[in-house]
Amino acid sequence: MAFHAYAAKKAKAHLKPFDYEPKPLGEHDVEIAITHCGVCHSDVHLVDGDWGDHFPVVPGHEIIGTVVAGRKFKKSERVGVGWQCNSCGECEYCRAGEEVLCAANAATCQGNFGGFADLIRVNERFAFRIPDALPSETAAPLLCGGVTVYTPLRNFASAGSRVGVIGIGGLGHLALQFAKALGCEVTAFSRSVDKEREARRFGAAHFVTGAPRKGSLDLILNTAHAAPDMGVYLGALRPKGVFCQLGAAPDPLSVPAFALIVGSRTVTGSAIGSPAVIREMLEVAARHGVAAKTEGVPMREADAALDKTRKNAARYRMVLAN
Ligand SMILES: [Zn+2]
Ligand SMILES: [Zn+2]
Repeated sequence: MAFHAYAAKKAKAHLKPFDYEPKPLGEHDVEIAITHCGVCHSDVHLVDGDWGDHFPVVPGHEIIGTVVAGRKFKKSERVGVGWQCNSCGECEYCRAGEEVLCAANAATCQGNFGGFADLIRVNERFAFRIPDALPSETAAPLLCGGVTVYTPLRNFASAGSRVGVIGIGGLGHLALQFAKALGCEVTAFSRSVDKEREARRFGAAHFVTGAPRKGSLDLILNTAHAAPDMGVYLGALRPKGVFCQLGAAPDPLSVPAFALIVGSRTVTGSAIGSPAVIREMLEVAARHGVAAKTEGVPMREADAALDKTRKNAARYRMVLAN
């Protein structure tokens, strides 16, 4: 039996139909018939060879589908899969429910064939029931983009926190919604004036196109794929404030020492989320109606959808459907 997928054979190559023989279904694996898969910026990086030579690459790690085989889930149950598809299950991080930090963590579409396909097999610990309230198309991007912004919000913010979100794109528009859902006062930072109305609808109380106000924020999430002026943004933090980098900026962040020392501020980063956090994030999304703004296209248009994401032209997430 072959799985039908779309793959890039070398860096920056177009995605072409690609059939492959899956690994045998392990005792703790689940096989999923993919109905939807979001297109994330990481998929662009993988296809463009920015993160090494892993070709052929079948991108896709914002997967929703129905269970075909496996022991943990009922047949036809609706489940999702994100960036991580396995971990050792035994190290101190796995035992503490921080599987994302496991040295043996495996990626759904790096070294494995991902979700731009009709079927996939992953370890059952990394498949998640999708709450009934969440439609598949608008929930698919939650599996990577959603949990990427949710994790630092739950770690560094609480109701009443003043949260700034830099960049109102695939990650940013979800960050605004989750921050609002958690009861934060949200400021959107964007250079695109035309995004103000939507940013406010996503949950921003304030919309800023220029520099942030000094000492005004408890937490800043940088979802942009560029290094900002760290002096300015650290200056915008209140004492003990946190700046969290989420976008994979290729350039170093230049942090002025005094901006850290004075006010005891923190610069950190965060990636995706562990299974327990993904389950919590899906519940929060269901309760508060958090939904990606999506543009749905058929799976056979995977190459064009990837290119639109590459050009930052998606508003705000492309989602492929079988
Ligand atoms: Zn992603
Ligand atoms: Zn581990």
